Amino acid sequence: MSQVELVRVTNLKKYFPVRTGFFARVTNFVKAIDGVSLNILKGETLGLVGESGCGKTTLGKTIIRLIKPTGGEIVFDGHNITNLNSREMRRLRREMQIIFQDPYSSLNPRMRVEDIVGEGLVIHGIVPKKDIREEVKRLLSTVGIREDALFRYPHEFSGGQRQRIAIARALAVRPRFVVCDEPVSALDVSVQAQIINLLLALQEEFNLTYLFISHDLRVIRHISNRVAVMYLGKIVELAEVEELFKNPLHPYTKALLSSVPVPDPSVRKKRIVLPGDIPSPVSPPSGCRFHTRCPIAVERCRREEPALRYVSSHHAVSCHLV
Ligand code: SF4
Repeated sequence: MSQVELVRVTNLKKYFPVRTGFFARVTNFVKAIDGVSLNILKGETLGLVGESGCGKTTLGKTIIRLIKPTGGEIVFDGHNITNLNSREMRRLRREMQIIFQDPYSSLNPRMRVEDIVGEGLVIHGIVPKKDIREEVKRLLSTVGIREDALFRYPHEFSGGQRQRIAIARALAVRPRFVVCDEPVSALDVSVQAQIINLLLALQEEFNLTYLFISHDLRVIRHISNRVAVMYLGKIVELAEVEELFKNPLHPYTKALLSSVPVPDPSVRKKRIVLPGDIPSPVSPPSGCRFHTRCPIAVERCRREEPALRYVSSHHAVSCHLV
């Protein structure tokens, strides 16, 4: 992993309008991402973790411009891509790919594997037309799928095999940055490790940079170099993976980590149960967004929003009391 940035986002926001009434007037906004700043280094895996509904997937899609941001800035490999139009984005699209959670719904059931994997090769003119079949075979073998899969359809494969095909499709266009959006969450536990190890091997072979989104902390720990913890549209903690797991600083991170089972039965771990549900992103709490559930909140937390600041060279946290 280098120390050179591939992606930088600054104060990124994505608000979705809430429409009500007969005329579908915009009456409010869902603040799915509300001022996220982070960087992703070339060749690293940045894990992104948080509860469902905290904005992880929206952040991943916005960074690669599948969704247009409401505000802020996205820089990819030194180029500001925040406001590129769809024609300009088309050229960049092959550099940034996404692997979705459910490989069944992300693969067109009416297309054969050869066409699914080869589609990007055709669109971006990556290899001459006559070589496409050979290239698809090569890609399938890279992800561990036999070449007789070429003429079959997605429903003929298991979940793990479908995810391998989805990975081959993403790799076909030779991307540099891949958003992996819960890529193993829909798979059997026995298959999850195979797909994770495949992603790690491909990262090494093709020098890929990953944003790896998951709610599973064990998976995040296994695959990430650094981890960002997200709560209600904001990053609340960002650190190198072992530092985060050994020395979590934000009360929310501590609560998340306390729920991870320890394999050693002699180790007793106190689980921190947070009160209430995650608040609505339509009207997030004032001050620190976590104050309604934080076990150590003080008066200041209701009034003043803490900034994400570095407390050591590789560890940032947003909490007044750290
Ligand atoms: Fe808790 Fe206050 Fe820190 Fe927010 S700023 S995490 S409410 S102590």
